Amino acid sequence: MAKLLEGKLVADKIKEKLKTEVASLKQAPVLASIIVGNDAGALAYVKTQAKIAASLGIVYQPHQLPENISEDGLIDFILKLNSDLSVNGIIIQVPIPQHIDYMKICGFINPAKDVEGMHPANIGKMLFGRARIAACTAHAVMELLNSTGIDLYGKEVVVVGHSEIVGKPLAMLLLEKLATVTICHIATSKAGRLKEHIERAEVLIVAVGKAGLIKGEWIREGAIVIDVGINRVDGKIVGDVDFPSASIRAAYITPVPGGVGPLTVAILMRNLVEAAQAQHS
Ligand code: NAP
Repeated sequence: MAKLLEGKLVADKIKEKLKTEVASLKQAPVLASIIVGNDAGALAYVKTQAKIAASLGIVYQPHQLPENISEDGLIDFILKLNSDLSVNGIIIQVPIPQHIDYMKICGFINPAKDVEGMHPANIGKMLFGRARIAACTAHAVMELLNSTGIDLYGKEVVVVGHSEIVGKPLAMLLLEKLATVTICHIATSKAGRLKEHIERAEVLIVAVGKAGLIKGEWIREGAIVIDVGINRVDGKIVGDVDFPSASIRAAYITPVPGGVGPLTVAILMRNLVEAAQAQHS
């Protein structure tokens, strides 16, 4: 049976270190969080972030804006937060309403306050391996891999999902470690070739949002399996990988919930503290 890769254990270590770093700053760091509309998932995520921020001595400033705010109205709001010297980091909660272009909006956040690494300048730095701050979920996955002690050099790593917030930044971070990276997506599935890629993965990372997409019998014996997916099925949260059958073949596997999720918030707070340290220096 696979060993469980529990994000909470790694997250707790990061948070312990952050508490000390926050205490040594002249002022408590401030994270401004923008939520547009009333999405229940985003509101729940804000609540979790606020609780963790408070436990670390971070000031969490939630700003809930109306669902029908215009793109220009949202940009004005971001520009005000950019010029507010007391604010160290800005996060835009997703999902946001369809009339707003998320990537365009991210381009208006001051890159020094972009704690999710979504500003084009920060994405560009990641391409050159010089990112100070990079996408939280992608970094959370890297921390989990690191916790296994595995050397990624030359490993066959398959990432399923090519979104801007998970799959693409993750591919960059894996390449930096000189892993051999394959990125699968909807076209891979439609071509009927997902199984063949997964079968050769020594490390498999899945970030799609479809319960049961990855069958346990596809998993290579001894693989490391990181399931980023979050799906609600019959009132329960499950990932994209069929956990019971996959955990028989894998060497390590993340539980869902309890895998990547708790670490993502810890990385967000680490990004904020690093941003605050850079702004104070
Ligand atoms: P997303 O933007 O919807 O991206 C999903 C990706 O999966 C896309 O690249 C999509 O390809 C691909 N895809 C869709 N159907 C597929 C299929 N049948 N076979 C192969 N690839 C397929 O989602 P996301 O924001 O990256 O999030 C992915 C999942 O991770 C969601 O369940 C989300 O809730 C979860 N998540 C978890 C955390 C955490 O902290 N634990 C953080 C972020 C996201 P196309 O775009 O080409 O269709």
